[in-house]
Amino acid sequence: MATTDDTTQTHLVILGATGSIGRQAVEVLPCVPHVRLVGLAAHSNTALVLEQAAATGAGLVALHEPGAADEAAARADVGLAGDALRVYAGDPGVAELIHDAAEGARAAGASLTVLNGIVGAAGLRATLAALECGATLALANKESMVAGGPFVIAAARASGARVIPVDSEHSALFQCLAAGGAGAGGGAASAGATAQRPAPRADVEELLLTGSGGPFRTATDDELAQATPEQALAHPTWSMGPKITVDSATLMNKGLEVIEAHYLFGVPYERISVLLNPQSVVHSMVRFGDGAVLAHLGAPDMRVPIAYALGYPQVRPTLPMVRRLDFFAGDLTFAKPAIERFRCLKLAIEAGKKAAIVETEAGCASGVCFEAPASAGSASRAAAGPAAPPRPPAAPRTVAAPIVLNAANEVAVHAFLEGRLAFMRIAEVVEKCLTWLGDEPVESLDDVFACDAEARRFAVEAAGGPRADIPTGADT
Ligand code: NDP
Ligand code: MG
Repeated sequence: MATTDDTTQTHLVILGATGSIGRQAVEVLPCVPHVRLVGLAAHSNTALVLEQAAATGAGLVALHEPGAADEAAARADVGLAGDALRVYAGDPGVAELIHDAAEGARAAGASLTVLNGIVGAAGLRATLAALECGATLALANKESMVAGGPFVIAAARASGARVIPVDSEHSALFQCLAAGGAGAGGGAASAGATAQRPAPRADVEELLLTGSGGPFRTATDDELAQATPEQALAHPTWSMGPKITVDSATLMNKGLEVIEAHYLFGVPYERISVLLNPQSVVHSMVRFGDGAVLAHLGAPDMRVPIAYALGYPQVRPTLPMVRRLDFFAGDLTFAKPAIERFRCLKLAIEAGKKAAIVETEAGCASGVCFEAPASAGSASRAAAGPAAPPRPPAAPRTVAAPIVLNAANEVAVHAFLEGRLAFMRIAEVVEKCLTWLGDEPVESLDDVFACDAEARRFAVEAAGGPRADIPTGADT
């Protein structure tokens, strides 16, 4: 394994290194010089992951597909400063890599950040492994938060690990929340803060989550019915992996992001709104109790939130390669999403709300980046008398709806990309599975993995029959 020098402050592991997020993370490394890449994980792209290891000096490599891991081990004669690469295989291999990287960071007196850029609920075990090791989790893999929200939060609280959002909207919200609190008595969430879960100082009235609307924003019903994978993959503003690009076309991506925002920031669903900004210039906004709205603007470029998360809290990186906004080059417009046409968004919000009712009753903690902000109007209630002392968070308890939503969507999107399912049937498959399984009680991680697997079986059936290569889920 790589040795470290005295100047190293943060060790980094990139999961999903060969994907869109992972490749852009490797690209921004020179902009965060205090970060040293020590580990890489991918599913089966041996050639690229070995190339990345050789180029960056990372000494630990995991491949989820065992055959690919064997191939990498056979070729692993190149590594940092002549050291042999250490190669890990399968799901346990990813967790072992994280564990070994944490040991290595501890020995070097460095901190460890794990960037989770795996696609799908397959990233849940890695999210949990990173948090259990006490690593800072830079989270792009929104599906692990959607499927495992209460359990991810419990794991972060148990170890005191920090979660920094990488999804562009959530990075924007994170920064707006921190900035909005900074004036009123010192923003504990500003860069350089040591607190794990600072509370925004001002009342948060509303999170305004923005989205482009995807390639079919203005499509007719006929065009939607005929939509092809090629059209769905032609995103107007962002360049991303295929699954999230299709999710952006159905607006499921925005639905997953609403759930992600709820768990990250502890804001109730009633105070999270979605609005479209087709130019993808406004990356999200926070409306505070005094009516002020703070927004995060910039060119649509994932290198910005990735580098921000890797630099946090020490530095805000300089990124000369990112296009600067020209405010005179075009319009900045907003629109409401057509929630009845893009049913995935509606289904996701309903699934999130259904789970939240049970989680609130059970006293589950929410808000892994920030403590749940006081609701609008709480200031007057607070004036009436001292608040009751906070109860310790209860053991997670929820229902399966968000897990089922996510798993069924993964299967349906895969079938659509293979030309086996019409675009408009993605929502239909998800809705059927939610009706069948959405109310199942979930009281443990084993329940999460079981519901995920069951939903995939149902979704295969609903999508028109079994295939050997359906996307593997959380329990792989
Ligand atoms: P890609 O499809 O481009 O890449 C997926 C990556 O995950 C690949 O490196 C793939 O390896 C790897 N992978 C898949 N399964 C496993 C596994 N079981 N174990 C280890 N590695 C695995 O996806 P994206 O980069 O687009 O998206 C990644 C995540 O980030 C998603 O959750 C997405 O929602 C989120 N996100 C992405 C954004 C973007 O701009 N792309 C923006 C915001 C969020 P291999 O190449 O070997 O198959
Ligand atoms: Mg996003």
